Amino acid sequence: ELLTPGETANNTAAPARTRRPKPEITEAHLKAALDARQFSVIYQPKIECGSEKLAGFEALVRWVHPEHGIIGPDRFIPLAESSGLIDTLTEQVLDQALAWLKALPPDSVLDPCSRLRARATDALTMSVNISARTLNDAAFVDRLAARCEALEIHPANLIFELTETSAMDDPVASLDLLTRMRMKGFHLSIDDFGTGFSSMVQLVRLPFSEIKVDKSFVMTAMESRESRTVIRSIVDLGHGLGLRCTAEGVETREALDYVTEVGCDLAQGYFIARPLSGDKAVEWLRDLHP
Ligand code: C2E
Ligand code: CA
Ligand code: CA
Ligand code: CA
Repeated sequence: ELLTPGETANNTAAPARTRRPKPEITEAHLKAALDARQFSVIYQPKIECGSEKLAGFEALVRWVHPEHGIIGPDRFIPLAESSGLIDTLTEQVLDQALAWLKALPPDSVLDPCSRLRARATDALTMSVNISARTLNDAAFVDRLAARCEALEIHPANLIFELTETSAMDDPVASLDLLTRMRMKGFHLSIDDFGTGFSSMVQLVRLPFSEIKVDKSFVMTAMESRESRTVIRSIVDLGHGLGLRCTAEGVETREALDYVTEVGCDLAQGYFIARPLSGDKAVEWLRDLHP
């Protein structure tokens, strides 16, 4: 009887909807789902602009609910963050993502001539989204480093993505943990860039390696001059600070060509591939050498 549709208290006041009302998610539901290991990670490929070689994957979490099917992260991450369950969720995501990365077929199975050919599997990166809350957990870096050592995964192959707004929430407090992560060799990426109001001064202080242009600009690049201006400015800023620039939300060939032309280093989006289950992503890798 988890998440009975229509549970929401103020449901009756809402105007008639065409879709079934979404069940309310509570902390207890999340806790039970974590205990039952109902969270599953899917992987979205990321390519190098220009060469269009595979560079790595981003891990994206899904709640595979036994009754309600697949529930996207936007519906439970905020609650996981405010309730403190996010740390357990991040651990489960990391466990799955690292084990999957470790089990990828060696690059010998990949045809070096295919269009989206992979570099050596060792060089593939795994990007994991973390919450600003994790930055308060001093033991996080040590646990992470221990886990990588046990799996023989090089820290430089891991990229931790933080949203622009969360990283800038408390830049002084973030600095300590982010610096410790960077010193262990992990890479840090600033996500959804352009949607917050970071000052350049703050950005320079934090040890990021990558900046991700928010998909809202990339998805509208072809029809909006403003979006194109924002993309170019972000790429200039990022490169000026020595950061790699990734365009997310690349949905068309035109958008990929545009972000490549303005100097983005990496790209992600439905045009390249949707986020895929672990098995599907391995198939996708195999299809790179038909
Ligand atoms: P994000 O990190 O900005 O991830 C990109 C989102 O855009 C993903 O949505 C992805 O499926 C979607 N996307 C990718 N390519 C395209 C495209 O070409 N067009 C469009 N329209 N969308 C595209 P998703 O998977 O629903 O994730 C939403 C957000 O939830 C993520 O945004 C991230 O902030 C958060 N999230 C996902 N997984 C985790 C996690 O394991 N931990 C934490 N803390 N947050 C997560
Ligand atoms: Ca992300
Ligand atoms: Ca993003
Ligand atoms: Ca986002």
